[in-house]
Amino acid sequence: MNIILLGPPGAGKGTQARTLVEERGLVQLSTGDMLRAAKSSGTEMGNRVADVMARGDLVTDEIVIGLIGEQIEAHGAGTGFIFDGFPRTLAQADALTELLDKHGRTLDAVVEMKVDDEALIARVTGRATCANCGEVYHDVTKPIPADGKCVKCGHTEFTRRADDNESSMRNRLMTYYRETSPLIGYYYANGKLRSIDGLGAIDEVKARVAEAIGG
Ligand code: ADP
Ligand code: ADP
Ligand code: ZN
Repeated sequence: MNIILLGPPGAGKGTQARTLVEERGLVQLSTGDMLRAAKSSGTEMGNRVADVMARGDLVTDEIVIGLIGEQIEAHGAGTGFIFDGFPRTLAQADALTELLDKHGRTLDAVVEMKVDDEALIARVTGRATCANCGEVYHDVTKPIPADGKCVKCGHTEFTRRADDNESSMRNRLMTYYRETSPLIGYYYANGKLRSIDGLGAIDEVKARVAEAIGG
């Protein structure tokens, strides 16, 4: 099974992707995570994208298509993917269609997670992530336990993203509406789009995702 989680920053894509990894053995391909890893390991590409990411603009199609292409190549035909934060432009969507075709894979569904802007801003400004395993927390809706230990791995260090501030977030939202939301029409037209309400408890959203991808 190959699915795309489509939605604005903070919609809950990463949170739901982790559950799909744990429960269904799918592999999460998050271009945001790959770019942040390149940045923190100080590769030439990582240095080049750092400012763009801090501003909340998109990095070039060429870079992210290259990253996704490498990952698709690296996994066997039996692996199912969750694309999280990719594609974000029509050019990326076309490239993904070609890459999947080339590897004899089909896209099963595109789950659009709908969340209004004010809720998105509240979500990203409260976001924290376990530095060891990537478990996603939120100051209000999913706080780090009182003992300071990650529920998944027991680690005690958490990171906050430099771009999770209100000004970068306003720009990321505009970028989403301008560059990425046309993909809703693209996937509607080819019959893959399943739109769900992304508001509500994480488990409620999880049930909607499950229904959208066929149980
Ligand atoms: P969010 O959690 O806000 O949806 P991501 O972690 O997916 O954000 O992405 C963080 C940043 O990385 C984006 O603001 C953008 O600069 C860059 N980025 C991630 N994925 C892509 C992509 N597919 N195309 C272009 N830029 C991307
Ligand atoms: P995305 O990957 O789409 O940017 P995340 O999964 O990182 O989004 O979620 C953004 C923030 O919102 C995180 O702090 C996360 O804990 C929180 N969050 C995720 N899903 C929900 C939900 N259904 N209700 C409330 N908060 C949520
Ligand atoms: Zn952890």
